[in-house]
Amino acid sequence: MQDRDAIVIGAGFAGMYMLHSLRQLGLSVSAIERGSGVGGVWHWNRYPGARCDVESMSYSYSFSEELEQEWVWPHRYAMQPDILRYANHVADRFELRRDIVFNATVAKAEYDETELRWLVSTDAGETFRCRYLVMATGCLSVPKVPDLTGLERFRGRVLHTADWPAEGHDFSGQTVGLIGTGSSGIQSIPIIASQAKQLRVFQRTANYSIPAWNSPLPAEQEAELKRKYRALRQKARESYAGDYADEYYTSVLDLSPAEREVQFEKRWREGGFNYQYAFADVMVDERANDLAAEFVRNKIRATVKNPRVAEILCPKDHPFGSKRLCVDTDYFETYNRENVTIVDIKVDPIVEITESGLCTNDGEHRFDTLVLATGFDAMTGALNAIDIRGRRGALLKEQWRDGPRSYLGVAVAGFPNMFTITGPGSPSVLANMILAGEQHVEWIASFIAHAEANGLREIEAKSEAQEDWARMVTESAAKTLYVKANSWYLGANVPGKARIFMPYVDGFQVYAHACEEVAKSGYRGFRMG
Ligand code: NAP
Repeated sequence: MQDRDAIVIGAGFAGMYMLHSLRQLGLSVSAIERGSGVGGVWHWNRYPGARCDVESMSYSYSFSEELEQEWVWPHRYAMQPDILRYANHVADRFELRRDIVFNATVAKAEYDETELRWLVSTDAGETFRCRYLVMATGCLSVPKVPDLTGLERFRGRVLHTADWPAEGHDFSGQTVGLIGTGSSGIQSIPIIASQAKQLRVFQRTANYSIPAWNSPLPAEQEAELKRKYRALRQKARESYAGDYADEYYTSVLDLSPAEREVQFEKRWREGGFNYQYAFADVMVDERANDLAAEFVRNKIRATVKNPRVAEILCPKDHPFGSKRLCVDTDYFETYNRENVTIVDIKVDPIVEITESGLCTNDGEHRFDTLVLATGFDAMTGALNAIDIRGRRGALLKEQWRDGPRSYLGVAVAGFPNMFTITGPGSPSVLANMILAGEQHVEWIASFIAHAEANGLREIEAKSEAQEDWARMVTESAAKTLYVKANSWYLGANVPGKARIFMPYVDGFQVYAHACEEVAKSGYRGFRMG
């Protein structure tokens, strides 16, 4: 049994900063990490084409001016190897590794109400005892392997985008089947297509995707951004999405048809989320959303030469942006290649996986390698994978059977001295995840500092505060079009998972302000003693 003041579970970007911040408070801390290295989602998601859909200068830590000045991002949108290099640099720079236990999966965390301690045990049998427990387990860290009949029979290799082999995979000369057209599929398809002999994509839901227009980041532009960094970071903190990109919030319906086309085209040329976050009414008004969606569909029709394939690729069954928007490089162009075909499995469903490929209703498709770009058990998956027991042995997973409930997305009633970074009920995946993590880490560290300074031994969300918060999160989401898609935001991609909209939709800046108000009020909504 090893004693620590705090244990942080996970050494991704949030976990690393939490470890650093708690050490700064003078506490003894260890982070426990399942992987062999730091970086979390960027450690595992090594699939070809993996890159961030938030610009690198924004998707990076803001807590250290020296760090942000010394690091050089080679591209506007960073590729996974660069992000992982950055995570490793941070770990070295702040000497984090000495307090990280790698290759250890936390199996159980149990609160001892008599000793006011958490007992945290790993699958290797190591046990830690701590006063504070911080879950930095990530929102997208448990890969979802679909329940496909016969999957175990397949004789070729099965690769999941979220658990990609560190040594990579050589597709040259191979025939490849790929299931899934979310962000991971959309990013990997163009690269796999350029390497493989043949690629067949099995698409269940067509997705909206906006080009990234990625390019190297010119040195002068980088220097200019670095000169303005403090102001840009502040702008990000005051934005909806936690990013410093301009958020104009023009209303689509206030524009004339001609002006609309100009604005859509402008935002589309800016790329990625600039298109979604430019308009005030796109996520709340179906008419505005239809117009934004049709513009994207027309771009697909103009790009994909085969009109039948273009129509398969045009999303028509959910509002634009209601599933997480994808940001791509040459995704739709890839379907103009001779070696790429698509099967619409809503029309021609997969019946079973066979030894040499898969059968749909219409026949057999043979391939050497099957790529599953099928996503994650998002937001609650990593928390529910741990046997977390709070007061009177209550199991978190059981408490969340009908959907996760938390106060501020950061604390759960019945689980004292435990915090969740970017937990359900916080902006998390709707914001720049590094900034969302930083905001939580700073808030949690201040709360712990307050507890330490005031001799508080237990801090715990009150159930009434939690219920009010959960109701507000659900009601806010219900006013938007986010709830109109079968998305992972709602848990709809995992059979049997409760359908509840998990992220906080009112914006990063509104949320951060609410957290500050709670702190200023002396932590309203928390029981402390
Ligand atoms: P995803 O968005 O959940 O997409 C999974 C895909 O697999 C969907 O097309 C889904 O179809 C399909 N699928 C799942 N189960 C299936 C089944 N049984 N049969 C057929 N198709 C099935 O997962 P993801 O692409 O890994 O992305 C998840 C999130 O990770 C993203 O939304 C994003 O937030 C993050 N991410 C970000 C980046 C980045 O650019 N920074 C890159 C990758 C991922 P349905 O839509 O019909 O369910």
